[in-house]
Amino acid sequence: LRGEEIGPYELEFIARGDDKIRTGLVIATPITDSDGQIDHDLIMVSDITERKLQEERLKDMIVELKEAKEDAERANKLKSEFLNMMSHELRTPLTVILGNAPLLTDPGDLPDSPEEIAEIAQDIEKDGQHLLVLINDLLDISKIEAGKMELNKDSVFVKDIASNTIESVRLLAEQKGIGIELICEPLQVKADIVRLKQILLNLLSNAIKFTTQGKILVKVFKEVEKAVFQIQDTGCGIESKMLAAIFEPFKQADSSSTRKAEGTGLGLAITKKLVELHKGQIHVKSKPGKGSTFTFSLPLDK
Ligand code: ADP
Repeated sequence: LRGEEIGPYELEFIARGDDKIRTGLVIATPITDSDGQIDHDLIMVSDITERKLQEERLKDMIVELKEAKEDAERANKLKSEFLNMMSHELRTPLTVILGNAPLLTDPGDLPDSPEEIAEIAQDIEKDGQHLLVLINDLLDISKIEAGKMELNKDSVFVKDIASNTIESVRLLAEQKGIGIELICEPLQVKADIVRLKQILLNLLSNAIKFTTQGKILVKVFKEVEKAVFQIQDTGCGIESKMLAAIFEPFKQADSSSTRKAEGTGLGLAITKKLVELHKGQIHVKSKPGKGSTFTFSLPLDK
């Protein structure tokens, strides 16, 4: 560069030792002679390793802060959506109850036929029950979200719980002409009996609800350190694009108004959280028109 016009310049360099890497900075100022020609460079060399590290740390912190801000904004949006949906879900059955109640307070407005009166009473009861299930589910979900759901874990014989829960829904299934079969290895898991029953009951009730013919097969078997539970039905199945969403609160594969009154859309969200609280996992495989298999695993009791 001698002879050319050049101003002060800086350059960074990496110095590698046996076990250390350091960053250096050279600041060079060309000094010219009386003819304006560069005579020599005034050079300052400093070790900027610490400054560099701090800059890197600062960059990482900025990225982390940005991510935390985005997470908080996402959570906030989800909460608002959840609240919106929740108020809608609560209002729908309440509207039916409040819409029908004046008929009872003013008997002049009541229909003449006892069948029609019974129908109104059934509507009120059905929507009242729906409201109760919804509120219980909401209490469960918020307890889990707040980290307040405590498990009373015990050593549980899987076969006892599975057959017990199946018996509690067998009549419901038989009324639809659907049988339930259990194939269960003699296993023990560490679980909260009430919550394990709730998990099985949710999955079995769905299997019955969404099956019109065929049977439900419940299998429990050992896989490495886990007990694997499989609830297999021959029902309507679930479209593949809906598979991930059904574990989210209020998501239903078919949300038409005729179908909606049959469930809260919270069952699988609660089921997934309960399985995860037990340090287990849940997933689903399904073929529309052929049926679904929900599989969850729980750690074995050693
Ligand atoms: P709910 O049953 O109250 O609607 P869930 O959270 O239990 O809510 O289920 C969410 C949705 O997942 C259901 O509305 C249904 O569309 C779908 N689903 C769940 N289980 C099954 C099943 N065994 N067969 C077909 N669809 C199912």
